[in-house]
Amino acid sequence: LEEKFQNLSARVQKPYPDIKYLNYHNKKRILVTGGGGFVGSHLVDRLMYEGHEVTVVDNFFTGVKYNIEHWIGHNNFEIIHQDIVNPLFVEVDEIYHLASPASPPHYMFNPVKTIKTNTIGTINMLGLAKRVGAKILIASTSEVYGDPEVHPQPETYWGHVNPIGPRACYDEGKRVSETLSYAYAKQEKVSVRVARIFNTYGPRMNLKDGRVVSNFILQALKNETLTVYGNGKQTRSFQYVSDLVDGLIALMNSNYTMPVNLGNPQEHTITEFAVIIRKLVGGNNKIEMVNAVEDDPQRRKPDITRAVTFLNWKPKVPLKIGLEKTIKYFKEELIRQHIHPII
Ligand code: NAD
Ligand code: UDP
Ligand code: UDP
Repeated sequence: LEEKFQNLSARVQKPYPDIKYLNYHNKKRILVTGGGGFVGSHLVDRLMYEGHEVTVVDNFFTGVKYNIEHWIGHNNFEIIHQDIVNPLFVEVDEIYHLASPASPPHYMFNPVKTIKTNTIGTINMLGLAKRVGAKILIASTSEVYGDPEVHPQPETYWGHVNPIGPRACYDEGKRVSETLSYAYAKQEKVSVRVARIFNTYGPRMNLKDGRVVSNFILQALKNETLTVYGNGKQTRSFQYVSDLVDGLIALMNSNYTMPVNLGNPQEHTITEFAVIIRKLVGGNNKIEMVNAVEDDPQRRKPDITRAVTFLNWKPKVPLKIGLEKTIKYFKEELIRQHIHPII
């Protein structure tokens, strides 16, 4: 036992990643809700690297401490293990509000909780922003457009959402989240930013989150059949996570307060996507069509004119490069999880 603890303290002494030095006047206190998740943890890395003080609040429903483990104990870093449906009292300058399950199987697992997180949780974060005078960025989604009748989707499109379908807990939850943001902006003068995030992929995606990128990569790596839901002609446009992080920070730092689409306009059918992933992984697995899922949006592609015009942002990482990095992560993660004593 003694030896075990000695090894543990050696692990704790591992050096932290390098960060930039920021003087007192430029250093911000930043809250990231959902900072233990896929997108949140990459955002935390960037903000820490820039030299800010970062507090993560997360209930670890879909996120894991492992994603942010490398910062634990750092002077600029704090984790609060809490559900944002409960009020939270901290003093911060900026809030990136990302806490919410994001993949369809996760948000459908407990629909009532998904609605509470996106309504009550968002009210709490807006209440906090109001009290301390912080700027707040809400992570909204392309799902606010539902199964869109307009293609590609500009921010001026009001959407086509089934209010009582299986995806409604998330879609309508995020729509209320946006409505709340502008109500607080108008009534309470809270400074809000709204990012409508399109499908994003990259390392630290939860392996079991059931989204198409993680499913196809895992199936290809395990030499299983790739499962295409429905006829595979539905489309999505995939953005690499570092592009999204650039966009979120650019939006927070801009003066633009209307919703902004953040996504990569390169569109593929799901069947094309299965073929691309199979080729990159290097197998020759079968691609099979299975039952379609209810209310699956048939086409999705962002119109990013606003982001280009007002944020001077556009995605940079090509699909092939992003997927290669993601596949590498999945390979390493499979090995790590296999030997991990908890699993
Ligand atoms: P994720 O599931 O990896 O991360 C979400 C994080 O929020 C997790 O760490 C989870 O534990 C935490 N969380 C969930 N409910 C909570 C609660 N009640 N209290 C505290 N913490 C809670 O998902 P992600 O892909 O990183 O998504 C982050 C945000 O971006 C979400 O708001 C999601 O809706 C939005 N978004 C993501 C995508 C995408 O493709 N990844 C697309 C559109 C929108
Ligand atoms: N809130 C919070 N942290 C704060 C301030 C407020 O969690 O620092 C919560 C508070 O519990 C309330 C919600 O945010 O439920 C909305 O706050 P607001 O001031 O708008 O409403 P009120 O407190 O007047 O109902
Ligand atoms: N999909 C699929 N096979 C899978 C997982 C998803 O064909 O194993 C399809 C799904 O029906 C949808 C698209 O891939 O049309 C994207 O699904 P995902 O769950 O990743 O995200 P969504 O954009 O639907 O929220």
